[in-house]
Amino acid sequence: MEKENSDDLFEKKDLTGDDSEKLFGEGKKKMVFEEKEKKPPSTIPVKTWKVLVVDDEEDVHSVTRMALKGFIYQNKEIEFLDTYSARESRKVIRENPDIAVILLDVVMETNNAGLELVKYIRDKAGNHFTQIILRTGYPGQAPEREVIVSYEINDYKTKTELTSFKLFTVILASLRAYDSVIKLEGLRLGLEEKVRERTSELEKKNIQIMEMDQMKTRFFSNISHEFRTPLTLILGPVEEMLSAGQMEEKERRKIERMHRNALRLLGLINQLLDLSKLDAGSMKLELTEEDVVNTIRLFITGFAGYADRKKIQYKFSLPDKPFKTYFDRDKLDKITTNLLSNAFKYTSEEGGINCDVSIMEQKKKPYSFILELSVKDTGPGIPEEQLEKIFDRFYQVEGEWKKEGGGTGIGLSLTRELVSLQHGKITVKSEPGKGCTFIVTMPLGKEHLKGNEYIIKSPEEVSESMRWSAIVEEGKSRTKTEEKEPVEGGNPQILIVEDNPDVRMHILESLEEEFLIKEAANGEEGLEKAIESVPDLVITDLMMPKMDGVEMCKRLKTDERTSHIPVIMLTAKANVESKIEGLETGADDYITKPFNIKELIARVKNLIEQRKKLRERFNRDVKLEPKDIAITSADEKFLNRAIGIIERHIDDFEFDAQTLQEGMNLSRSQLFRKLKALTDQSTTEFIRAIRLKRGAKLLEQKFGNVAEVTYEVGFNNLSYFARCFKKMYGVSPSDYMKQSSKS
Ligand code: ADP
Repeated sequence: MEKENSDDLFEKKDLTGDDSEKLFGEGKKKMVFEEKEKKPPSTIPVKTWKVLVVDDEEDVHSVTRMALKGFIYQNKEIEFLDTYSARESRKVIRENPDIAVILLDVVMETNNAGLELVKYIRDKAGNHFTQIILRTGYPGQAPEREVIVSYEINDYKTKTELTSFKLFTVILASLRAYDSVIKLEGLRLGLEEKVRERTSELEKKNIQIMEMDQMKTRFFSNISHEFRTPLTLILGPVEEMLSAGQMEEKERRKIERMHRNALRLLGLINQLLDLSKLDAGSMKLELTEEDVVNTIRLFITGFAGYADRKKIQYKFSLPDKPFKTYFDRDKLDKITTNLLSNAFKYTSEEGGINCDVSIMEQKKKPYSFILELSVKDTGPGIPEEQLEKIFDRFYQVEGEWKKEGGGTGIGLSLTRELVSLQHGKITVKSEPGKGCTFIVTMPLGKEHLKGNEYIIKSPEEVSESMRWSAIVEEGKSRTKTEEKEPVEGGNPQILIVEDNPDVRMHILESLEEEFLIKEAANGEEGLEKAIESVPDLVITDLMMPKMDGVEMCKRLKTDERTSHIPVIMLTAKANVESKIEGLETGADDYITKPFNIKELIARVKNLIEQRKKLRERFNRDVKLEPKDIAITSADEKFLNRAIGIIERHIDDFEFDAQTLQEGMNLSRSQLFRKLKALTDQSTTEFIRAIRLKRGAKLLEQKFGNVAEVTYEVGFNNLSYFARCFKKMYGVSPSDYMKQSSKS
């Protein structure tokens, strides 16, 4: 029971009637108890509380009825059920599982009949919610009561007010308890229902995901097959053209590029196909019985020529005796080739690669011989925290470790799956900065394999399938000496910043007739070259290692030396939405890949033409301020700074291009190219123009006579000043002075 004052808790209601008089004596009032706060708005009882009285004495029934007549709790009345023996009660209890309270006599047909009925209610009928109140002859008569019931009343047969009050409080407490348990049970059932609903929803979703996954796998597999046919039809004729020989060098380079890239595409498609086969669980080992040492030697030595060309020290060691066993030639090829191509991809010139193969006898069953393949390189290595992840599908090491030329992040995950298909293991060790070592161990033979994991083929049957990821060499960049140095008045200079050598070469070859080309393989190199040579235009890729196109463009546009250079950004379609739209890259134009080279050329010319027009304005319009010709605020600052320095030395005859260059802290050619790009004037012409503009102003302001003005603006030769002035303003200085005094 709660300890609250009963006056606060209950509302008193007047009631009249025979029963109340019988119980309390004439004139006495009966109280109806209701909890104040919980009183619902409607006073109409919605349902009843079922109270069962089990007692062999009729008196008890009538006393209880009388005492509780009109008792209302939570807006519900009591509905009495009566039985006179424990046995008889069982049926009623079974038929009314919603009885709220049972008032129960302990001694009926037997001394323990009441207690046994309690056990029946709880254990047999499984009713755990009904509240049971025991009536006992004296306190402590039912020793088990603590276990089975919460309330005991032992003197309520006596018609005293005390007894009635006890009855009220006990019933009230029981109803409360019953009410709470039922509500809790309702909640629990509701929750259970929700859990069931959610579970079935999740199950449905899971099935959907699985179905989608299967569809994706099927789609991958179908589309990869579809890609292979046209690719084969491209590769065939291209190979024919290459072997026919007799073609111009430039033409050959183009066709080689086609060949290389078609092969690369085929390699990628084959990888996707393998992935979908693995996903569908339909990849089996195709075993042939032959000499594994010689087979793997062929794969390994295939890289020797590449190593020579890349100036990489390539060492390998193999067992000296042949070893005939069952193994999957194609998968061994893929594993070896993949690890080696990665090693070659990530190792720079002058580095080293070691490839060691050994066959070890294993004492423990089920394997008897294990092949160990180790590929060690002196590349950049892999940061420790990423070592585990590199075997995840599509994972690529981020940041400066990323290799130029991209990649897909499929190779290693596929390799690991191929290795585990043969019950083997692949591990990697790496010391960042020093390189890494991949070690594959794989059991040989077929004793360890289940019958459904492999099929046996004769060596002749295993078709010389097209090499899966046969290393496709990167296109070569031109050497430094092939880059021409700009000459004054020569073709405009363009810097191509692109990490894929083939794309770079493709653009270069299309532009080199009309433009002077410089190349860079990433943003960092691009920025450096742009600052050094101040090109007339930059074409850059967006995604590049070391520094991407966006960052490089931002730096170019905020550096005074390069801020004026127009930039064309090459983007893949997917980047256009994701990156460009939200991001201010500062590029002057975009072209999406795959691009039409003619369109690129048109845009290049257009931008160069635009800049030319701006420059011409500077020459035509003598009053033009820096902000009128500046393209970016960095340009404006640059011009203001240059003009400021010249004006400070305006009367100094000796101030020349050299002094301005020192004052601006730029190299001769940087200053020259920047001024030329903005004003179409050489440094000397620019200084002279500023002196003349100043001279014109002084003449307007009547600073002095022409000779005085001439010296004031740093000319030491009157007739030279007059000649230059006339060329710029169309009139002689003295006429200019006269004209301006008239106006
Ligand atoms: P991809 O080379 O196409 O990106 P891989 O699955 O072959 O995909 O390799 C995953 C990543 O692991 C690569 O992006 C690379 O960063 C790293 N990696 C693989 N091999 C080497 C290696 N020999 N040296 C350094 N990093 C490597």
